[in-house]
Amino acid sequence: MKILYTQHEIKEYAVEQKKAGKLIGLVPTMGALHEGHLTLMRKAREAADIVIASVFVNPVQFGPNEDFDAYPRQFEEDCAKLEAAGVDAVFHPEPKDMYPDGFCTYVNVEGDFTKKLCGGQRPGHFRGVATVVTKLINLARADKAFFGQKDAQQVCVIRRFVEDLAIPVEINMVPIVREDSGLARSSRNMYLSATEKEAALVLSRSLRTAEKAFNDGISDVSELKRIIVNTIKEEPMAVIDYAEIYSFPGLEEISKIEGEAIMAIAVKIGKTRLIDNIILNL
Ligand code: AMP
Repeated sequence: MKILYTQHEIKEYAVEQKKAGKLIGLVPTMGALHEGHLTLMRKAREAADIVIASVFVNPVQFGPNEDFDAYPRQFEEDCAKLEAAGVDAVFHPEPKDMYPDGFCTYVNVEGDFTKKLCGGQRPGHFRGVATVVTKLINLARADKAFFGQKDAQQVCVIRRFVEDLAIPVEINMVPIVREDSGLARSSRNMYLSATEKEAALVLSRSLRTAEKAFNDGISDVSELKRIIVNTIKEEPMAVIDYAEIYSFPGLEEISKIEGEAIMAIAVKIGKTRLIDNIILNL
């Protein structure tokens, strides 16, 4: 597996692959890799000739009071996992290489849907995501890029700017990978103590309880939201950031589930903010 540290190195590598007629699959990550990330790598491996993963904790998508400095960094372990998953090259730049002096161009998706959920709670977050993903797609000359449903709103944002700016890449969304307990895998799960990890099960439990109610015939959004919120409130360590149900992928307000919809939650367990979602389809 090749390790590429600079924009210059990844550009050269990608151009060489394109010249050889290879189809390139890109999987952007912030590292501290787990089964969720590795599932994306395997999907990319099946769908492309060359898989490029990126491991980059992108400063531009973190707010001033967020966990940029504390975010887990374990590049050597990540490389071993990426190599075992059959990744061809990993791009691991320094922030200064991605954002050199003079950098002043950002991709800002302005739709109302970007102001909801995580966009409402983390101003500037999706501007940072859209900017870095645009740059990664360009650098990697990616034909296909792979993202997790875990960050479903992120996928909506990426699909939007890829279409609006006519970027020639196919965006693939991969379902959420969970632990046996139901907890969605996340690099931030590392922050949780054993007690907090137990408490964090309330996220998936609340969504599954609502999903069951939906499957039993309840399609009223207020009723389903009430089920989610009441279940989360049963856990004393949990503090709700948001618990919403919107149409998917448009993220529009709905009162009844009639097509595809997403139940999305963000919950703090101690100091750790966790997100989860389930997509419903009538
Ligand atoms: P991150 O390193 O958190 O930026 O995540 C990199 C990519 O992995 C994103 O597209 C995430 O949505 C995806 N991802 C993270 N956790 C999971 C999971 N549990 N299941 C599926 N995809 C995931």
